[in-house]
Amino acid sequence: MTLHKIPFNDLHPREDRAAIDRAIARVIDRGWFVLGPEVDAFEHEWASACGTRHAVGVGTGTDALALVFRALGIGAGDEVITSPLSAAYSALAVMMAGARPVFADLDGTRLTLDPAAVEAAITPRTRAILPVHLYGQAADMPALSAIAERHGLALVEDACQAHLATCGGRPVGTFGVAAAFSFYPTKNLGALGDGGAVVTDDGALADRVKRLRNGGQRTRYHHDEFGVNTRLDEIQAAVLRERLPLLAAWTAKRRKLAASYRAALAGCPLTVPPECDAGHVYHLFPVLSLERERLQAHLSGAGIETLIHYPVPIPRQPALATETPAACPVADRICRELVSLPLYPSLAADVPALVGETLRRFQPRMAVAPDPRG
Ligand SMILES: *Cc1c(COP(=O)(O)O)cnc(C)c1O
Repeated sequence: MTLHKIPFNDLHPREDRAAIDRAIARVIDRGWFVLGPEVDAFEHEWASACGTRHAVGVGTGTDALALVFRALGIGAGDEVITSPLSAAYSALAVMMAGARPVFADLDGTRLTLDPAAVEAAITPRTRAILPVHLYGQAADMPALSAIAERHGLALVEDACQAHLATCGGRPVGTFGVAAAFSFYPTKNLGALGDGGAVVTDDGALADRVKRLRNGGQRTRYHHDEFGVNTRLDEIQAAVLRERLPLLAAWTAKRRKLAASYRAALAGCPLTVPPECDAGHVYHLFPVLSLERERLQAHLSGAGIETLIHYPVPIPRQPALATETPAACPVADRICRELVSLPLYPSLAADVPALVGETLRRFQPRMAVAPDPRG
């Protein structure tokens, strides 16, 4: 393992450390660890932060998605159209509900679902559209909402990378019938372990997700339907409650770092995807390079760690190989060129300039200027 001067991420609690210690102690002293007052309070606070009427805490973002599909009655024989570029969990959640993920290609600028490709992928078996608000930027929700409405499809948002993001000024999670969030430690709002939530305005849907996360029980020991066991626990909810008030300031820091990167990378031999919506919350900061392995090695040599989100389009993952692989040439190309630069709230403000300087010294082999002599 190479030790980097500038690691890709740093998950050590900082200004929130004392509050987290107190929150954990509070739960231990109370002696109530699953489905108690912290989860209750966090559900209200998270719904309010998202601008939805309900939030339901669950074990992971993946479970949040799978339970939404199950609560909507989407399962065997049904198709859900989703993005080929995401954490594979988006599509795995569709499969967990028993339905089949169908992939529509990307808008190559926004890097989220291309609405025209979605419309072309609709079949008589399509029940839902699952856009992913990737890297912190919303998918084109006005266009996708119009398609869902025109075809009578459920719109479910994967907002696992998009806490507090907006699309045309409107919060993500309020466009669809429901949305899923993840509180995995690296997410913009992260717990000290796994966590997730469903948000929705539909009270009956929220109630059904509450039953499904808890073994399908209506009352204790009475299992009315086939549920699973996936609950946000009290310690994680208490941690998230301490962090939620800091999220707006953390998001502002992410945006400021992103603006610094854009300024610092101007003129560097790579492509920076444009900001298509001011509501972008910069979960990640990917750039595109035709020689990304060499670019990664160059940065690594300067002590700067990078990662790839994601190297394989989901339809090309072996776990999905039983599904008919849709042609997604834009996603194929993007997955070959992506590389994510470090961006997190505790990153020093001068790192983007340092990365820019380092990349100005990067000599691409392929994208050389044409020889003027012909
Ligand atoms: C993290 C993530 C998930 C899965 O969330 P978990 O909490 O890890 O299960 C799903 N979709 C996207 C886009 C993600 O980034």
